[in-house]
Amino acid sequence: MRLVMIGAPASGKGTQAHRLTRHYDLDHISTGEMLRAEEARRSELGLVVESYLKRGQLVPDSLVVKLVGERLTHNHLAQGFILDGFPRTLNQALALDKALQELGQGLDAALLIEVPDSAVLERITGRRADPETGRIYHLKFSPPPPEILHRLEQRDDDTAEVMQARLDTYHECIAPVVAHYRERELLIAVDGTPAPEVVFQELLGQLSSLNPRG
Ligand code: AMP
Repeated sequence: MRLVMIGAPASGKGTQAHRLTRHYDLDHISTGEMLRAEEARRSELGLVVESYLKRGQLVPDSLVVKLVGERLTHNHLAQGFILDGFPRTLNQALALDKALQELGQGLDAALLIEVPDSAVLERITGRRADPETGRIYHLKFSPPPPEILHRLEQRDDDTAEVMQARLDTYHECIAPVVAHYRERELLIAVDGTPAPEVVFQELLGQLSSLNPRG
């Protein structure tokens, strides 16, 4: 199964992508995670992308497309994948089509997790990461144990200000991507506001009716 996962920041796309990865034994390819990893190890690419990540702006298409292209080439062909957070622009979607065509592969579905902006804002500004375990908490929805509260960190791009910029960019860029997949009859849109388990079951239900493509 070859999937792309689209959704606003904090729509739950990462959580759902992780669950689908385990359920279908897929390769989970998250461009956000790959970019943050480059930033953390201060690689040449990391230094270039750092300012984009901090400001909540999209990293230039050429850099992300290259990163994903390399990863797809190394992906074991028999194993499916889920692209989490890619494509985010029409250019990226077209580049992905081309890369997959060259590999003789096709997408099975483009999953869109829909959540209203107000809910996204509430989710994102309460999000905190534990640097020791990598676990993500939410001050309201998934409270951390009090004894680790002092060491939790807020991602640089998780503040309300940066968040608004990210949402504006998201809406502007994603509309043509959604239209692209709808036209190709690959789009599966689900309501991302219920509990994660409910969203997951909805995704599984929709995916179970697909026929795997070559
Ligand atoms: P995410 O973890 O998916 O929310 O991504 C975090 C940040 O990484 C985004 O705000 C962008 O700056 C950058 N990023 C992730 N995926 C992409 C992409 N496909 N195109 C451009 N920038 C991206």
